Amino acid sequence: MKAAVVRAFGEPLVLEDRPDPQPGPGQVRVRVEASGLCHTDIHAAHGDWPVKPSLPFVPGHEGVGIVEELGEGVTHLSLGQRVAVPWLGKACGRCEHCLSGWETLCAAQINTGYGCDGGYAQKMLAWADFAQPVPDGIDPREAAPLTCAGVTTYKALKVAGVRPSQLVAVSGIGGLGHLAVQYAKIAGATVAAIDVTDEKLALAAELGADLLIDARKDDPSQVLRRHGGAHAALALAVNEASFSAVNAGLRRGGKLVMVALPAHGTIDIPIFDTVLNGTSVIGSIVGTRQDLAEVYQLHAAGLTRVIYQTRPLAAVNESIEEVLRGQVKARIVFEM
Ligand code: NAD
Ligand code: ZN
Ligand code: ZN
Repeated sequence: MKAAVVRAFGEPLVLEDRPDPQPGPGQVRVRVEASGLCHTDIHAAHGDWPVKPSLPFVPGHEGVGIVEELGEGVTHLSLGQRVAVPWLGKACGRCEHCLSGWETLCAAQINTGYGCDGGYAQKMLAWADFAQPVPDGIDPREAAPLTCAGVTTYKALKVAGVRPSQLVAVSGIGGLGHLAVQYAKIAGATVAAIDVTDEKLALAAELGADLLIDARKDDPSQVLRRHGGAHAALALAVNEASFSAVNAGLRRGGKLVMVALPAHGTIDIPIFDTVLNGTSVIGSIVGTRQDLAEVYQLHAAGLTRVIYQTRPLAAVNESIEEVLRGQVKARIVFEM
């Protein structure tokens, strides 16, 4: 089977022929049909973050495919079933976080395409308890972006406690942002979409955004404040300054949800304004299996649109360049 492998940080990925991986106890082997390119995969391949993957590794945590072999003890999945293999590859199931519905905070978790090989391959392994069944009728190429971009933004809105009539700022209309706009509309919010390209702002409008802010021309904080300030702002752009801009555009009691992970990122948070305005800064990491099931349910009900362009896996390096140049409409999906 073919896999795209990171052999050195910051170097092009190498397409390799590898033997099919063999599922251990509790695992399954998946024949990957479609696999999304999340910006996180680029951070992983560049070694951008303090905790780095061990080399060599296969990135990808939006892999969707068909279960073709069951490891020992797997009884709840069947051969031929379609599953997705998300970032949360495995969690311990016993710690306070796992037991309280916060498995995404488990300190013993293993992340797909980071702590173990991921979906940039024709075959991959998954822990059966964390392989997410994909409902019939969802195209695998649409299920792929939902598996990280979808669940992450759906969860970010949940942690912000967004309610109908609120103003929600979505900063960065990329893979994550194009779904965030739709979930915020489903929640009944008024949506302000912020980006730095005409195409992304046009896409946000097409997906229902009410207010478009071009951060090249206007200061998002001023525009948001003119509209009374955002009840919640999702920071999805890989740009530190954009975090501060939306933080300053919160209304009193508003919530900044940090989601994007720019390399070495830090922001200055003014203590006085934060205290006096009673604002919150929250970090949000992907979503649970239940969150993902809800994301698929919304899509199966026809409530969301996934915007994607397909590429062969052999185009992995050009595809990464396209994302970095901001030229991808929303998400690239590799077809295996
Ligand atoms: P992407 O490249 O598809 O989208 C980023 C968008 O930000 C692009 O549309 C770009 O034009 C826009 N942008 C760039 N500069 C901007 C600025 N100054 N203001 C507003 N918009 C700007 O990336 P993605 O796949 O959507 O991922 C975004 C980030 O989220 C990455 O850092 C990724 O690692 C992170 N991420 C986090 C989680 C999590 O669980 N916290 C999950 C998935 C991805
Ligand atoms: Zn991701
Ligand atoms: Zn745990």
